[in-house]
Amino acid sequence: MADLADLADLKDRIDASVAAQAPALIEASHQIHSHPELGFEEHKAHEILTDLLDANGLTVTRGAYGLPTAFEAVAGSSGPRIAVLCEYDALPGIGHACGHNIIGTAGAGAAIAAGALAEEMGGTVVVLGTPAEEGGGGKVFLAERGAFDGIDAALMVHPAGLDLARFGAIAIQQVEVTYHGRAAHAAAAPQAGRNALDAAVLGYNNVAALRQHIRPDERIHGIFTEAGEAPNVVPARTAATWYVRSPSVRGLQKLKARVLACLEAGAQAAGCTMEHRWLDPAYADMVDNDPMIELYRANLARTGRTLVDPADLQTIVGSTDMGNISHLVPSIHPMIAVSPPTVAIHTTAFVRHAAAPEGDQAVLDGARAMASTVVDLWAQPGALEGVKEAFAEARRTGRASGSASIPAPADG
Ligand SMILES: [Zn+2]
Ligand SMILES: [Zn+2]
Repeated sequence: MADLADLADLKDRIDASVAAQAPALIEASHQIHSHPELGFEEHKAHEILTDLLDANGLTVTRGAYGLPTAFEAVAGSSGPRIAVLCEYDALPGIGHACGHNIIGTAGAGAAIAAGALAEEMGGTVVVLGTPAEEGGGGKVFLAERGAFDGIDAALMVHPAGLDLARFGAIAIQQVEVTYHGRAAHAAAAPQAGRNALDAAVLGYNNVAALRQHIRPDERIHGIFTEAGEAPNVVPARTAATWYVRSPSVRGLQKLKARVLACLEAGAQAAGCTMEHRWLDPAYADMVDNDPMIELYRANLARTGRTLVDPADLQTIVGSTDMGNISHLVPSIHPMIAVSPPTVAIHTTAFVRHAAAPEGDQAVLDGARAMASTVVDLWAQPGALEGVKEAFAEARRTGRASGSASIPAPADG
């Protein structure tokens, strides 16, 4: 254990380390940003980040846990094991509109800065490269393959329009539905057809009606992915993809059944049949670890930023596979400001901010605040105990399930 004067000294060394790395971290952030890669295809980002960690003395495993674009890098050999998580996948069509280039490089910077102190302090930092956050759930695969075994706490930062203590991450699962009807000439013999587009449209409208009678913090949204081939042919096959979101996994299972009933009713009305497939993994809601947020808050303040506690989390609803990890080990997912509050993630406007000077500053400030939080968890008297007690309480009350995986629902 270190006393507080020692800790202040160590954090000054972290700041100096991040300052020394700044050009390399920002260069890495810009390179990842300018080569956006989709989930499980993040080969260049994987190479950039693992090369950086390797060059700074961490022990790197590329393609970790059987996922070609995952990695694990470790510094230290004893004491508490704290995981820093990196994301680096982009969005289809609009590139790094979620700013994961910042998550990846802030995480690497934090691990390098904390890693330089690991042996001296008797702590271990494990930086995990987690592919495919934007659908795909890389963190869940990593957890199932043991990446979080023996991990005492996990943290990451995510870019946003504000410095937020937490992200209102709710549970989500995707479903793909396919409608089957019967083709016919739409003018000559419509009576012979069974219209799979009607089935999809009626299902959509049923969900639209359902939306008035769900909780205000639940979300259902979908698109048609196949909608027929030609207007003069009654569509024999259509398809849609839906996202279903609810604040808890239990609520999600109930809502999923209601959504499915709506979609199936569309098929019945149109004389068609429907198949559905729930895509795994489902993402769990985020169980934020309050004592760890307080450590991060104090460390972020050293960068001149003030962490805001959103009064209404529903203003920033989203979902993340970090939610699943937060059910398994004590976790935080704070947001770091890189854009004006009016610019939302997943917009083309956000892409520019993710590699602008504000984005670069977030890489450095995020790295400093996370590395200092790792040091607190290693050495601040009582800090890790408080974090673990809060997690144990979340387990006792059922808020945290103790597993990163969500059991398959009865309807499959
Ligand atoms: Zn995103
Ligand atoms: Zn994101």
